Amino acid sequence: LSAMAFELRDRDLLGRIGRLNTKGGAVETPAFMPVINPVSQVVPPRRMREEFGCEIVITNSYIIKKHFSEQQELKVHQLIDYDGVITTDSGAYQILVYGGVETSPDEIIRFQQSIGSDIAVILDIPTGWNVPREKVEWTVEETLRRAEAALPLIEGDDTLWVGPVQGGAHLDLVERSAQRVGKMPFPIHALGSPTEVMENYRFNVLVDMIMAAKRNLPQDRPLHLFGAGHPMMFSLAVALGCDLFDSAAYALYAKAGRYLTTLGTMKLKDLSYLPCSCPICRKYGADELKGMFKGERVKALTEHNLHVTMAEMETVKQSIVEGTLWELMEARSRGHPALASAMKGLYKHRGFLERGSPSYKGRGVFIFDSVGLARPEVTRHLRRLEQFIPSVRQNNLVLISAPPKRPYNKTQEYKSLARRLKKELGDDSERVQICFYSAPFGVTPAELSETYPLSQYEISDPPDIETFVFTAENVATFVAEADCKNVTLVRGDDELDRWVTARCEDVCEEKGREIEVISRPDAWSEETIDELLSILKRNGKGEA
Ligand SMILES: [Zn+2]
Repeated sequence: LSAMAFELRDRDLLGRIGRLNTKGGAVETPAFMPVINPVSQVVPPRRMREEFGCEIVITNSYIIKKHFSEQQELKVHQLIDYDGVITTDSGAYQILVYGGVETSPDEIIRFQQSIGSDIAVILDIPTGWNVPREKVEWTVEETLRRAEAALPLIEGDDTLWVGPVQGGAHLDLVERSAQRVGKMPFPIHALGSPTEVMENYRFNVLVDMIMAAKRNLPQDRPLHLFGAGHPMMFSLAVALGCDLFDSAAYALYAKAGRYLTTLGTMKLKDLSYLPCSCPICRKYGADELKGMFKGERVKALTEHNLHVTMAEMETVKQSIVEGTLWELMEARSRGHPALASAMKGLYKHRGFLERGSPSYKGRGVFIFDSVGLARPEVTRHLRRLEQFIPSVRQNNLVLISAPPKRPYNKTQEYKSLARRLKKELGDDSERVQICFYSAPFGVTPAELSETYPLSQYEISDPPDIETFVFTAENVATFVAEADCKNVTLVRGDDELDRWVTARCEDVCEEKGREIEVISRPDAWSEETIDELLSILKRNGKGEA
């Protein structure tokens, strides 16, 4: 098993651009693998590579074995006439659909080796959806047992073998499954059974399943999300660390008269226009497509669906390079409330997202609403602030509503305050800690004003209630924990000021800590600063 099978090129969130080296060639990830039916195929695999840019496809070794095993010297690349990288699945999906298969785990491993698969999957047991827990446990244990038993058969093999993770929506079982299979020397892992979760639009469950697997698998191995192929969810799944995708959706949806878009699925019969610029949609109008004979129409829809699927993966890769994967994910989540729910669910995974995300992408951060509070940049700032708190030992902590421009410490308002502090307080000015507050980052100590992304973000104004609550809570936590004698809050008169003041006053009352509030229409007016300085002078003298 090759240790260098997977090389990382670029990252954003947990998403990555990688290079997967197989014996049949290298593939750039994240990659979508169209499912090829070896018996009947609307778009020939050769055309998929030449015209659609599919460098990797997946086909089913169980179906090949059933239909073609009497052929001498059977090779999968010749059989489907495709010279890119071929993954073969094992028939596990047929277990899920038909309840069983007529082969054994060992037999299907040897068969995949004999037909020359570049990537291959052991015969796992898919968990499925809505099954009793005892059954789920059995699928996990039996899959692990088969993975263990496969190891002697695949040792030294130049095929890249996939070690599947099962457990369905039972997250503790997904974790157990991932921990144990992750200790085995499989170069690739896969998360099973998401198809039914996705068909039921339970994207929030899917997020939890992926996170449960991802947290417990070796991070340097690619993760394949079995059966996922709708372009609307690629950005989300890639952002959570999925590298490979496969699906027959592009073909199955076409047969059902469905037209895929990056924001969801449409029925061809409802379309007056074709919102796409692929060769099919440039060539035909909606009415022409509807008027075609069935076979021709299915073929055209299949081609459109594959084009839009492949194009979305390019969009996802470009966003990784740019560092805008979060923004893309938010944009796509507007296609369906269930995807928006999944975005809201990212908040509980924010710690893991932050630890795995690269720290600096060199561009500004856009915060649209409270969903953005789960962004790694926000979590990272709060973590940095926790480390900063013990160093705040000054007599006086001043929390002041942030000036309108960034970086805060370079504004005229702040420079003038700093000058007056030095001039009017002398040495006592050393014992004043100035911090700004603003949404959504909460507290920004003056000396951290230029730390990324505190001077490089845009937030839609006014922030939503959740963002006010979040910001006020974080400011109050800072006030409660900072080791200072006097706290002065300088507030203006907008909604954030009201939220922050109320929460800080509550916390100070609970803690028995004094807080002085200067409340004026403009937190940075001459009169406000005069009042602040007189308070600081008084406090400074008291200590001296
Ligand atoms: Zn199209």
